[in-house]
Amino acid sequence: MNIILLGPPGAGKGTQAKLIEERHGMKQLSTGDMLRAAVAAGTETGRRAKEIMDRGDLVPDDVVVGIIADRLDAPDVKKGFILDGFPRNTVQAGALDTMLAGKGLKLNAVIEMKVDDEALVERITGRYTCAKCGKGYHDRFEKPKVDGICDACGSTQFTRRADDTEKTVRDRLAVYNKQTAPLVAYYGGRGTLVTIDGMADIADVTGQIEDVLKRV
Ligand code: ADP
Ligand code: AMP
Repeated sequence: MNIILLGPPGAGKGTQAKLIEERHGMKQLSTGDMLRAAVAAGTETGRRAKEIMDRGDLVPDDVVVGIIADRLDAPDVKKGFILDGFPRNTVQAGALDTMLAGKGLKLNAVIEMKVDDEALVERITGRYTCAKCGKGYHDRFEKPKVDGICDACGSTQFTRRADDTEKTVRDRLAVYNKQTAPLVAYYGGRGTLVTIDGMADIADVTGQIEDVLKRV
């Protein structure tokens, strides 16, 4: 099965994508994670992307479309994929349509996760991840079972994203509302869009997504 998780920064796309991966074997394809890996590795793409990401703007379409095109051909997406953070505008959505048609693949569902702006700011400014295994946490909503120790790998090192400040979050939300929100109408017109309540707690959102996956 192939799905898109569509929603603003902090909606819970990454959190839910990892849970879907564990349960269904579909592969999370997060353009944000791939770009951050390119920045950390100091590649040409990473050098181009860093400054743009730090201010919360969109990296050029050709860069992210190229990244996704490569990933869709990899063997680990044979059981399906969960697009997280891509597409982010109608140009990218059109490029995705062309790529999928060329590979004989289809989208089973586009799941829109709706969350209020103030909740997004609270979620993003409290977000951190394990520096070793990448498991995501939140200062209030998703703490490790033992304070300061990663549940998944036992590491005591954690990191916060450079763009997870209140100022950048508000800029990223403005970019989302202008450039990405039109995708709701783009996919809504084709009957592949399902909107869920992303304000609910993590387990409840997972339940809503499972209901959608059962139906498609
Ligand atoms: P996105 O990938 O959409 O940017 P994340 O999955 O990284 O969002 O979630 C942002 C932060 O909010 C993380 O710290 C995560 O632990 C927390 N979070 C995710 N879903 C929920 C939820 N339903 N309720 C409360 N906090 C959540
Ligand atoms: P995310 O991890 O999805 O919050 O993305 C972090 C940042 O990476 C964004 O603010 C953008 O600068 C960049 N980015 C991620 N995905 C895309 C995309 N599909 N198109 C353009 N820029 C992207």
